[in-house]
Amino acid sequence: TYVIAEPCIDVVDRACVEECPVDCIYEGSRALYIQPDECVDCGACEPVCPVEAIFYEDDLPAKWSVYTADNARFFTEP
Ligand code: SF4
Repeated sequence: TYVIAEPCIDVVDRACVEECPVDCIYEGSRALYIQPDECVDCGACEPVCPVEAIFYEDDLPAKWSVYTADNARFFTEP
């Protein structure tokens, strides 16, 4: 899955939402989140992010590794 990391916080540009063919990018109060079970790994969202917040999970910088779980948690916690 692809993951949205820290640069998205309080930016929420939404360019990625327009690109996603399966509409699996959802909006939280301060950032956007990718639904890991719905993401088809197409990569379309990554280059359109103006703040480079989106990474394939294996390419996520180590300092932002918590964001893989953070994206998933958005969809599992009330
Ligand atoms: Fe959507 Fe593709 Fe990005 Fe996954 S990689 S969130 S399917 S645009």
